[in-house]
Amino acid sequence: MTPVTASAPKKSVKTQPPLPGGFAGQILRVDLSRRRCWPEPWGSPEEMRDQLGGIGLGSRILYKETRKGKGNVGWDHPDNRLILATGPLAGLPVWGTGGLTVVTIGAGTNGPTSTQANGFFGTNLKYCGYDAIVIQGQSKDWVYLYIDDDRVELRDARSYLGKDTWETQDALSENLGLRGHQLSVYSIGPAGETCVRFAAIQGDYGHVASKNGVGAVMGKKKLKAVAIVKGTKALRAADPRGLVQAADEIAHDLQTDPSARSLYEYGTLPGVVNLSKMGALPIRNYTTSVTGVDMAPWEAPKLREGFDHRGHQCNSCGMHHCHMSVIRQGVHKGKIVDEPEYEGWSGAGWTIGVTADKDGVAWLNTQLDRACLDVNEFGWL
Ligand code: SF4
Repeated sequence: MTPVTASAPKKSVKTQPPLPGGFAGQILRVDLSRRRCWPEPWGSPEEMRDQLGGIGLGSRILYKETRKGKGNVGWDHPDNRLILATGPLAGLPVWGTGGLTVVTIGAGTNGPTSTQANGFFGTNLKYCGYDAIVIQGQSKDWVYLYIDDDRVELRDARSYLGKDTWETQDALSENLGLRGHQLSVYSIGPAGETCVRFAAIQGDYGHVASKNGVGAVMGKKKLKAVAIVKGTKALRAADPRGLVQAADEIAHDLQTDPSARSLYEYGTLPGVVNLSKMGALPIRNYTTSVTGVDMAPWEAPKLREGFDHRGHQCNSCGMHHCHMSVIRQGVHKGKIVDEPEYEGWSGAGWTIGVTADKDGVAWLNTQLDRACLDVNEFGWL
């Protein structure tokens, strides 16, 4: 299969007014049916401010382009859009902003949805000169989208089929000769390829846009992965000094404010014990929220103590969150896993009745990420 490269738009491009800070100013359009990719300026500065953030931008496009009568096109229709969008802070030095929002007609409800994931995707996309990718159509054969600044190609993905999301990222990194955060990959595993209705899109080893079957939408389009090289384009903040000061204050508050401190130290890990105390921890397929199990080993510090860790934070984020862990003992000894969030301990643990084997829960949580299944919805089965 010959790669298809971005083609210039046929219309003459008008001179654009100066961009507001934080925006790349272009959308990357991809039509999988026609195998075309092209950049498109996405609006006036006023529009950019009105439709702030990945959800604002994505929902405007989704609403305009997928309405049909009083409803919307079906999730599996070629006219459905899969929008991978950033906000104006992506790529700037502010904690928690480097990821992406996925907006589409989801396979779970067949209605509009948005779901977020972090990592490096949004940053790499901005540095390539795009605020969002809008994907339409359905490919005949499996492809992946490769973006490196102005070089945008749909490439043959048949050799990646059947690989889980971590294997896909490993293989793409090796084949493209790029290491670490030089390449961000968001992909689907076997669950997305077979259009499981609660399939997710997973990226950068452990970050998951998990809600409403967005991975099934990607699978229906026969798009195995989006691989973005860390681009070289400049990104300007409207007020660089003010931005850095505000970002510093937010980081300081997160580290020192008693109400935010545990979030800074442990992310969502305290959720297991906190929800248990409130009688809201889902146990055994939601048949009960009451347990006689000693919850002391499920306190956040204990959850973290049980594994060897290394930080795996997202772009420009200093939270003690999103660690990679190594299982120390048992049948999965030595395996690298992503530290489960509260949802992982719950969906791959308590909800299915596992209340003691933390190594097993951590392993299963990662297997679900790798297969690209939403761990919450898995727990409900
Ligand atoms: S490390 Fe955690 S808090 Fe920071 S951006 Fe990533 S997911 Fe968000």
